[in-house]
Amino acid sequence: MKTFITTSIPYVNGPPHLGHAMEFTIADVLARYARLRGDEVILSIGTDEHGGKIAEKAESLKLTPQEFTDQMSQKFQDLATTLEISNDRFIRTTDKDHEARVQKIWESIKDDLYIKQYQAWYCTGDEAFFSDAVVKKNNNVCPEHNRPYEKIVEENYFFKLSKYNQRIKDLIVSNEFLIIPETKRNEILSLLDEGLEDISVSRPKSKIYWGIPVPGDESQVIYVWFEALLNYITVLGFPDKSDFKDYWPASYQVIGKDIIRFHAAIWPAILMSLGIATPKKLYVHGFINVDNLKMSKSLGNSIDPFAIVDQYGADAFRYFFLRHIPSYDDGNFSWEAMASSYQNELGNELGNAVQRTAVMVKNYLASELPEPESKKAYDQEIGSLIENCRFDKALEQIWLRVKNLNQFIEDQKPWSLYKAGEQKKLVLVLNSQIKALRYIADLLQPFMPDVSDKISLIFNSKQLNLPERTLFPRRDLD
Ligand SMILES: [Zn+2]
Repeated sequence: MKTFITTSIPYVNGPPHLGHAMEFTIADVLARYARLRGDEVILSIGTDEHGGKIAEKAESLKLTPQEFTDQMSQKFQDLATTLEISNDRFIRTTDKDHEARVQKIWESIKDDLYIKQYQAWYCTGDEAFFSDAVVKKNNNVCPEHNRPYEKIVEENYFFKLSKYNQRIKDLIVSNEFLIIPETKRNEILSLLDEGLEDISVSRPKSKIYWGIPVPGDESQVIYVWFEALLNYITVLGFPDKSDFKDYWPASYQVIGKDIIRFHAAIWPAILMSLGIATPKKLYVHGFINVDNLKMSKSLGNSIDPFAIVDQYGADAFRYFFLRHIPSYDDGNFSWEAMASSYQNELGNELGNAVQRTAVMVKNYLASELPEPESKKAYDQEIGSLIENCRFDKALEQIWLRVKNLNQFIEDQKPWSLYKAGEQKKLVLVLNSQIKALRYIADLLQPFMPDVSDKISLIFNSKQLNLPERTLFPRRDLD
């Protein structure tokens, strides 16, 4: 089976934050799990790089937009490397190939485009338009960005979004286009009940120069959101490359809850206009609070994901954000919770089970291990939790196995068997521990690839490979 998985592509106006890091990790778990299952996978991530906000920011730093986006995009590529993300592609919306394909796509949806004189409110911070009602409610100032809405009177190209309202609704209701979790599915359905209006999909070049020109109309550039969404198919070489034919529709698109309207309403409409299938599943994750407060510039409480990885390592980061941020809801990060998860669950539970078993095999069995068995299939229940994006529950199930193993060791007391000279029983008990750990390593593979490899390296041959250091050395907070 061919499986295509995407994250949303972060807008490069600021450095990577915890939400980006968690989203990359989620998509990576889905991709690694699919590969374990034997699928051929393309995991695509990337960066969204056009628009007025980028040009504005670059100017303030005395850089060209290209220089600025080169630097910023690199930070996201570094984040992916740091988190051991196994992405096959990294698309930038400033890639020449993307730009050329976007222009071709524009030509092929021309029947759904028209020019209209337009009045609306715009916030460059969001690169989005707002209605009179929203602007009035917020007293003319965008609360997210603390900047006044700009009144815009322009002649723009519009896309006939309203035309697709019913068809999108039908697809979502039938779960042909499955939105996970249910709460987010309901949210978008009620939005569709209110009815979609046509949207502006270009801006005058006089206002925004950093973008892809509208083909055949030098006075306009394509609206940044509109072309950014197209990355999901330009990255596969739509329309002519075989990857597109082989891998589309996407099996999973992973996004945050703030951009659900773009991905569950506008994006499927564009695909319908192109006459191609919508994604199979859209998984919407929640927000991460820090110390139970929303991350914000004014609170100065945003946390650099690189700082967490520096202290605890990539696998502990991956574990924390997938186990302790509820998969179907918002969640909370604190350094205390991170430290406690690292010391207790990883160190005392998993680390100890590995360490104790390894030392007993060395001392009681002269480091001899049972023949490695042929690979067992991935646990069905845990597998289906992953497929439904219940990463928190999947890790809970794996941890139940870790806890059971520790309990088994406590109950069987291999050290007493050794003292009593009950060699036969001792071998049986230790072999059970080893088999359990080999399987736990396999189950952890999508979540903690490095830890999984390390456990396998210790136990997966006929001779124990005792590690020089424990898997999770103590890292006390200063
Ligand atoms: Zn704003």
